[in-house]
Amino acid sequence: MDTVVIDGSTGEGGGQILRTSLALSCITGRSLHIENIRAARRNPGLAKQHLSCVEAACQICNGQSQGAARGSRVLDFQPGSVQGGDFHFDIGSAGSASLVIQTVLPALFLADRPSRVTVVGGTHNPLAPPFDFLCETFLPAIATVGFRGNCRLLKHGFFPAGGGRITFDIQPRQKQSHRIINLCEPGSQFRIHARIYTAKLAAHIAQRQQKLLLQSGLNIQNVEHIEVTDSDGPGNCVMIRLCGGERTTVFTAFGMRGKPSQDVISGVVHLAEDFLASGAAIDRFLADQLLVYMAILRAGCYTTNELSTHLVTNMEIIREFVDVDFRVDQRRKVYKVSCRPA
Ligand code: ATP
Repeated sequence: MDTVVIDGSTGEGGGQILRTSLALSCITGRSLHIENIRAARRNPGLAKQHLSCVEAACQICNGQSQGAARGSRVLDFQPGSVQGGDFHFDIGSAGSASLVIQTVLPALFLADRPSRVTVVGGTHNPLAPPFDFLCETFLPAIATVGFRGNCRLLKHGFFPAGGGRITFDIQPRQKQSHRIINLCEPGSQFRIHARIYTAKLAAHIAQRQQKLLLQSGLNIQNVEHIEVTDSDGPGNCVMIRLCGGERTTVFTAFGMRGKPSQDVISGVVHLAEDFLASGAAIDRFLADQLLVYMAILRAGCYTTNELSTHLVTNMEIIREFVDVDFRVDQRRKVYKVSCRPA
């Protein structure tokens, strides 16, 4: 049996290597042997979120795994054939629901019937795509090439309490769709909006953050405050949404105990300013998340303002499964990434 052997300590050495490998194993039907899982993390091996990703991958294709245990650094996965359907996954911690969805989404787009995936876990987590990014930045980007889905937030879940709920409806991709990802031109005439989430926190936090946002160098047109009442625990995140043409890019910073609001706001404002100054079309997070879709289509290109280690590592892992070449050309502060058959 054809087995792809992956070294989880490659490059970034984090959980994305596992998720990309599982996704591509489901799609290609090739078995996976992965070692040194999350070797570069403080708590290496499989954490709850990653175990849910393995479980989810097994369920969508009736696959088998060995080594799926808390802290395990080695995993074997044998995929079966992918079947659309109704799936429900409970991470059992504040692990990111978006990242579980990221694992199964590519294969379910290629299934023969629609799917509905519900995940219970974190919906707004540091170091993972917040729900808003998923539905406003990521989904519209892949919808341009025929990957159509809808997501709904049923309950908010912040770190560390978790307990949020997201539902995702996935339509099989129409085979006759021949469009490829082409996100090379920067957006124009941006409208800049901000969004503040607070849950179970004192009112002055959002008031202060709103004031700081309006005083920043960005021309923010309005600040929406969402006071969350359904979450299991407290939470605070601040988003800047750049809306230009048909594209929305969501940048996020998280408030936490001991972190001054000044730092939260300057963090998210810098992300948006760097991006706007670069002339790139997409941000660094969307950049690493689109690669699997370009590999499926064996074509596509985009420009981004940072060559992150997530991006470089993901290209390396994808090449182990699929015969594609990625090429990176740098021009001043912009990186153009393109994909074509090897
Ligand atoms: P680990 O615990 O090993 O760090 P992980 O499973 O949480 O791993 P990473 O390997 O670090 O994950 O991958 C994180 C993913 O989350 C990447 O795909 C990255 O693009 C995405 N991501 C992180 N922060 C954001 C953000 N603010 N907005 C959108 N996406 C994000």
